[in-house]
Amino acid sequence: MRTWAVVVAAGSGSRFGAPKQFAELDGKPLVQYAIDAALECCEGVVVVIPPEGCPVELSGDVRIRSGGGSRSESVRAGLEAVPEDADIVVLHDAARPLASQSLFRKVVQAVTDGADGATPAVLLSDTVKEIDGDVVVSTLDRERLVAVQTPQAFRHDILRQAHADAAEATDDAALVERIGGKVVVVVGDPRNLKVTRPEDLHVAQLLARYDD
Ligand code: C5P
Repeated sequence: MRTWAVVVAAGSGSRFGAPKQFAELDGKPLVQYAIDAALECCEGVVVVIPPEGCPVELSGDVRIRSGGGSRSESVRAGLEAVPEDADIVVLHDAARPLASQSLFRKVVQAVTDGADGATPAVLLSDTVKEIDGDVVVSTLDRERLVAVQTPQAFRHDILRQAHADAAEATDDAALVERIGGKVVVVVGDPRNLKVTRPEDLHVAQLLARYDD
């Protein structure tokens, strides 16, 4: 199976105050962690950078593309650089520096085994409520909910179909679900933190040193 990865790193980091994917963890930009993990498990890697350019030097044999105004647009920009004969495409957020190679392998294996898509998922520890403004509308059944992460792997042809018509969602699994694709979950990693706010970098620093 020919497996390619697209690392999306074109966000503006509005909640972080700067493009978080270029912040450093132990002297290395977050995006480089994502690239290094993807290069270990995939035949080729496309990195999608902000239209205004990449403020850090990237290392590794990667294809670079310029992103769009939304995550989904950036994914589509990356897909344009993926060879047509790739069988599986793995999408990964540059803002998740702690995704392990074994997590990449697990999602790829699930697609190799027949799923249209696969995403890591972790159980929720908080109770989740639906709100309208500041009023609680309902409480969701936590037992039926998971939080999903990247890397997410997909059959290449189905991922392209899911992105036809400029579809928008906060992850690619949602787009594949929308066209009726079968997306499965694999056991995610609670340490695979998405760096969203400045304090997350400190947590990531601690987690990076935590070896189980
Ligand atoms: O904004 P959010 O935290 O969901 O971003 C997830 C990932 O998508 C980040 O790595 C970010 O750089 C990327 N992204 C992108 N292009 C955008 C918005 C987000 O590549 N326009």
